[in-house]
Amino acid sequence: MPESCLFCRIVAGEIPADFVYRDDEMVAFRDIHPVASTHILLVPREHIVSMKDLEPGHEGLMGRMMLRVRALAEAEGVADAGFRLVVNNGPDGGQVVPHLHLHLIGGRRLKDRMG
Ligand code: AMP
Ligand code: ZN
Repeated sequence: MPESCLFCRIVAGEIPADFVYRDDEMVAFRDIHPVASTHILLVPREHIVSMKDLEPGHEGLMGRMMLRVRALAEAEGVADAGFRLVVNNGPDGGQVVPHLHLHLIGGRRLKDRMG
């Protein structure tokens, strides 16, 4: 684990976070600067920098993360109204924390179309 990685430190419990889910391969916690009433970050425990670093061995993990998104959206009460899943990758993608994470955003009508 890179000592300097913020999300590795949150995963390890060295930096506090408002956790909403934890298992042996991923954690989810509330974004410190939420852009909507639901703004959760879903983070693999493994230090994967971004989508470009995914390998065939990550297939199962990524599939389970997608299903966890569904469960989190339902638990937050945003599944039916709708939500957005955002994954910023690299400089052009606007990624600030270089440890792969999924933003689950919902609770209001999102106006900015990106994609
Ligand atoms: P990204 O730009 O995709 O790398 O997103 C990084 C996200 O991490 C931003 O939305 C930040 O608000 C969020 N963030 C940064 N530090 C923390 C922290 N200590 N706890 C929770 N969220 C954080
Ligand atoms: Zn990390």
